[in-house]
Amino acid sequence: MNNNESVDVLIIGAGLAGIGAACQLRRNCPDHSIMVLESRAASGGTWDLFRYPGFRSDSDMYTYSYGFKPWKDKSTIADGQKILSYIREAAAENDVEKHIRYQHKVVAADWSSADKRWLVTAERGDTGESVTISCKFMFNCSGYFDYEKGYTPEFAGIDDFSGQVVHAQHWPEDLDYKGKRVVVIGSGATAITLVPAMSKDTASLVMLQRTPTYIASLPSEDPMAKSMGKWLPNSWVFRLTRWRKVLLQMYIYRLSRRQPAALKKYLLGQVRKALGPDYDVETHFTPNYNPWDQRLCAVPDGDLFTAIREGDAEVVTDHIDQFNDKGIQLKSGKQLDADIVILATGLNLKFAGGVKHSFDGKALNITDHFVYRGMMFSGMPNMAFTVGYTNSSWTLKTDLTGKYVCRLLNKMERGNYSTVTPRMKGEIEEVPMLDFDAGYILRAKGLMPKNGNRLPWQNYQNYVRDFVGLRLGRLNDKELEFR
Ligand SMILES: Cc1cc2nc3c(=O)[nH]c(=O)nc-3n(C[C@H](O)[C@H](O)[C@H](O)COP(=O)(O)OP(=O)(O)OC[C@H]3O[C@@H](n4cnc5c(N)ncnc54)[C@H](O)[C@@H]3O)c2cc1C
Repeated sequence: MNNNESVDVLIIGAGLAGIGAACQLRRNCPDHSIMVLESRAASGGTWDLFRYPGFRSDSDMYTYSYGFKPWKDKSTIADGQKILSYIREAAAENDVEKHIRYQHKVVAADWSSADKRWLVTAERGDTGESVTISCKFMFNCSGYFDYEKGYTPEFAGIDDFSGQVVHAQHWPEDLDYKGKRVVVIGSGATAITLVPAMSKDTASLVMLQRTPTYIASLPSEDPMAKSMGKWLPNSWVFRLTRWRKVLLQMYIYRLSRRQPAALKKYLLGQVRKALGPDYDVETHFTPNYNPWDQRLCAVPDGDLFTAIREGDAEVVTDHIDQFNDKGIQLKSGKQLDADIVILATGLNLKFAGGVKHSFDGKALNITDHFVYRGMMFSGMPNMAFTVGYTNSSWTLKTDLTGKYVCRLLNKMERGNYSTVTPRMKGEIEEVPMLDFDAGYILRAKGLMPKNGNRLPWQNYQNYVRDFVGLRLGRLNDKELEFR
């Protein structure tokens, strides 16, 4: 075991959030040494892992990009490759790459109260060796899902199917679907991306869903940003458009909470317009919940609706009874024959990268702790984690978290403090962390840490509120202890 390395800030994960955090640290805390431990052999996380056709963002890139690096491409919704290049470009521009250790999976972290440091243990994927690194501050940017296995519901008879079954998270590079009969199971962001991307090449393409999702069409190029671009420098266009999009997203989310019927009517009206008067929008595009009870999906220039309208793809809303050798038998009695079945059935949630935490050698479960300002844990010193918004772009929150951690570290440096620990003072009531019913969130209840009913122990899904609290607020909170 190699046991002699030490660093000021250790970041877990080199995805969008980890690279963003490393860039922020280079920019705002240049005197702190950093190291990024990444379990995979490449950076980019989500944007390197997923390889299915058409893989892209479903947020607009003005809010999904980093605040410190304006999105310059014309596309509002970008394909996965462009996002991956953008993340890697940010790493190169901020000299982060040399600090990343690939194939280092963090498995444990022990806080030493004598040394006032975390001792982090990682397993190397290349050599099988175990390494420990000590750090002053640990920043967990490991995302929220299990990379090893996507979520697959139990399907009766799936082993009897003579065709190929593929999970979207584990896309075979050589999958040949040209001229084949394909069924995509799912109705979320992945399914609605796959369908238009594959539909021109397949013999037939069915999107099989149990329940519909709200889907909104977004222009692939923002018309207002396009015209502003004629007169203003790119950095202005980016900032103005980013704030405009933030406020628009917040307005839509607010509308979904206060006047769900009105928003529902508007969204379904747009779908009807795209698919024509004869299409059964009631069955295939009308969810049994209100907008934003689950994530609202976006499609660029209505590409999914075009594929359906032009007869290249079909939506079937039904329940699977069982698989058989030819395809899928539905509860309605209908049979869907297929050569390939694609499971766009989602993710398995994994919190904090599965790292086992302990305090002076004594095991603890971070999910027993309350979350401070959506990023630290009650009673746990010198540690932060980052997750994004579920009702807005992920990066908006991870950017704020990264900047806040930099402010904390600079305050510690200035005041010569060795620890910063959120400590709860006074009464608190536990309330659910997320007002959100996505399947992977519901499956993961019990795996999440605790959320309180008052500041600063309450996790917000509101950028403006977080911006005021995290960017502009002072660091003299009585429940944040510096020693
Ligand atoms: C298909 C798909 C599309 C999405 N589209 C959008 C979108 O359009 N808009 C939006 O806002 N959000 C979207 N999301 C959510 C998305 O995951 C985030 O936007 C973002 O990419 C997450 O970045 P991250 O760095 O937090 O996590 P990840 O991208 O998951 O990166 C985490 C990194 O940490 C590493 N890691 C994990 N555990 C460990 C460990 N123990 N030790 C070392 N390394 C570890 C992983 O290997 C990975 O590289 C999408 C998600 C998926 C799955």
